[in-house]
Amino acid sequence: MTETTSESLEGTRASLLAELTRDIADQRVLDAMGCVPREEFVPAEAASVAYQNRPLPIGHGQTISQPLMVALMTQALMLTGDERVLEIGTGSGYQAAVLSLLAAHVVSVERVPELAASSTERLGRLGYSNVEVHAVTDELGWPDGAPYDGIIVTAASPDVPRALLDQLAVNGRLVLPVGSRSIQELVRIVKTPEGAQRHNLGSCRFVPLLGRGAWPEPR
Ligand code: SAH
Repeated sequence: MTETTSESLEGTRASLLAELTRDIADQRVLDAMGCVPREEFVPAEAASVAYQNRPLPIGHGQTISQPLMVALMTQALMLTGDERVLEIGTGSGYQAAVLSLLAAHVVSVERVPELAASSTERLGRLGYSNVEVHAVTDELGWPDGAPYDGIIVTAASPDVPRALLDQLAVNGRLVLPVGSRSIQELVRIVKTPEGAQRHNLGSCRFVPLLGRGAWPEPR
């Protein structure tokens, strides 16, 4: 990368962080967003636009989420640092890297084997050592690592999957987009001893969560 390019990348990174401070109150989340080099998680040809506040294609019909959405979902998990967190939909590994700076341990699962492999390599190379990535097939989540204090689903689900509520600890938070294939509501579920409490956090748009308990697999 030439010096000019890296300088302009720094400029766009600073502007993005300034933009995030308008909507994100949790300083730990802002600090983590400022630490993770998003240009390392997007395809090389998109590196120069890595700090624009928009989703970008990462191959296999999938996208790395918009930075504001990553920050909002992370904030909604209300992490203090000692949690075990499960992410459904590793994709590029960017959201997992942000989580790894805010929780004790992150388990992330991905159904596209090539993305699971590339994100494992990337997270290892960049030194995010408290993240484990698993390629999954049909089962939702990673019950072997349960219970989790936080679960984040970075793909859209038709409803709140029972399998994920089962993997959540009491007082744990589940953050996910729930709705149709084209538009969803970002939802936080808090699992209390009395049952699940639901909070709506605004509308959003994600790629579909596929498989048992979600949308059917494409043929
Ligand atoms: N969090 C990612 C963005 C993920 S896009 C990032 O930071 O880059 C959503 C991802 O969810 C896609 O990679 C898709 O393959 C994956 N996915 C969809 N259904 C899934 C399922 N049932 N289990 C695991 N991953 C799934």
